[in-house]
Amino acid sequence: MHPLTRRSYSLAGRAAERASKFRQGHIGVAVVFARRHHVGAVVVGAGPAGIATVGTLLETLPRYAGRIVWIDPKFDAGKIARYSEVPSNTKAGLFLDYAHAVEPFRAICASAKHRPNPVTTIADMPQHETCSLSYAGDMLRFLTRGLHQHERVEPRLGYLKTTNWDAASPTLRLAYQPAQKLPAAEEGSLASPMVVFCTGSSPRTIALPSNPPLLPLETALTPSLLGATLDRTRNLQVGVIGSSHSAVLVLMNLARLAQSTHPHLRVRWFSRSPTFKYAEQRDGWILYDNTGLKGIAAHFARAELEGDRLATSDAGKVVQRIDCGGSAEAEKQALGAWAPRCDYVVQAIGFDADPVPVDNSVKLVFDHETGAFGDSTGMPVRGLFGAGIAFPERTTDPVGNTEHAVGFWKFMRFLRRVVPQWVEDVYRVEEPRRQAGGVST
Ligand SMILES: Cc1cc2nc3c(=O)[nH]c(=O)nc-3n(C[C@H](O)[C@H](O)[C@H](O)COP(=O)(O)OP(=O)(O)OC[C@H]3O[C@@H](n4cnc5c(N)ncnc54)[C@H](O)[C@@H]3O)c2cc1C
Repeated sequence: MHPLTRRSYSLAGRAAERASKFRQGHIGVAVVFARRHHVGAVVVGAGPAGIATVGTLLETLPRYAGRIVWIDPKFDAGKIARYSEVPSNTKAGLFLDYAHAVEPFRAICASAKHRPNPVTTIADMPQHETCSLSYAGDMLRFLTRGLHQHERVEPRLGYLKTTNWDAASPTLRLAYQPAQKLPAAEEGSLASPMVVFCTGSSPRTIALPSNPPLLPLETALTPSLLGATLDRTRNLQVGVIGSSHSAVLVLMNLARLAQSTHPHLRVRWFSRSPTFKYAEQRDGWILYDNTGLKGIAAHFARAELEGDRLATSDAGKVVQRIDCGGSAEAEKQALGAWAPRCDYVVQAIGFDADPVPVDNSVKLVFDHETGAFGDSTGMPVRGLFGAGIAFPERTTDPVGNTEHAVGFWKFMRFLRRVVPQWVEDVYRVEEPRRQAGGVST
């Protein structure tokens, strides 16, 4: 054996032993690490995008590349877990398509010991109707558990802190921190020629005049939590900013509370326009597929909010629209006049990518076509890729509208297109190096 190879084997063995102790203690998956020392790829994040990335890589990454290290602080379906009372905007059939899209997922479904299980439950639903996101979350947890059992997948319950690279090296170096507090010595490092960020996004917020208390979007989208948070005995004014899918669902939740358990609740809706954009089924494609209202939100907006409906609708008895249209100045004035009168404000104005685990001094630029990253000088960062809501594909529909493709099935479709190219790019160059000694932890 080449001395370098021997050294990397023994380093890998020690690192693997440490990681194995950590892993077995916290998520109970026993794997003999030392034998599978190559880290072929690291996937960061275990939401729908991270799960789809692991499944797609298992199909695509050559065996010699080694195992896939998968890092997440919870392995609990990503942010969908926070939206379990939200009705989906996509049809149940698309969740099932996701669950059957790649061979490792199909194997998990086929070997399931119990029926019904989260995938068969979705299969038994009307496929053209929407469903609660709790079903989608259960399906993701089911697939996650199955992937954790895969011999090439090494889950690490932790948080990736930094990623470093330099042009001279074909590997990226990563430092991660276990999810639970362990001695600093247990903090880990990894090296791999391929790293995929599926790190997700969080609700965007803006500074408001007089800083009224913010009601988190997650709370406002969870009727049971919203009802428990708002005092039903007091006169309360809740402001809702935005006209997005989430904003409409929040308005619907608040209106229902005001009409039932919270009769003293009133809602100020800050919006730039009284009309909405709706997704429209066309011949074989959907107009405004990613930005238009769908499902229950579309139904509620059409029936209760659209145009001058508030004047006659049930929602109009408790919701007042505050016009923020026309200009940035008009919006500022409207918010300045009304936001201070609100007891709480919900901001439903979009999502921003969570901070990526790279050195703060590095500005990454994402290519929405290929899923690759470059640095601010335009140089590609070899081996670094992204997917999911934070790093979506950009699509153009038949009439020329450009959108970011966000949703379980869209992540999967994007990954099935780009992952073979990622593997080709990384391992075409990596193969001679592997023969000379390999890449190890
Ligand atoms: C209200 C709402 C409704 C939606 N409804 C639908 C729907 O009906 N159908 C549909 O297809 N899509 C829907 N979506 C869109 C989309 O599918 C979700 O936003 C999805 O959760 C995004 O998946 P993701 O994997 O990109 O990110 P996330 O779900 O946010 O997962 C990211 C994961 O990465 C982890 N992470 C972040 N940083 C690190 C780090 N440094 N180290 C380790 N782990 C890290 C996080 O802890 C998290 O587990 C909805 C979204 C929202 C907000």
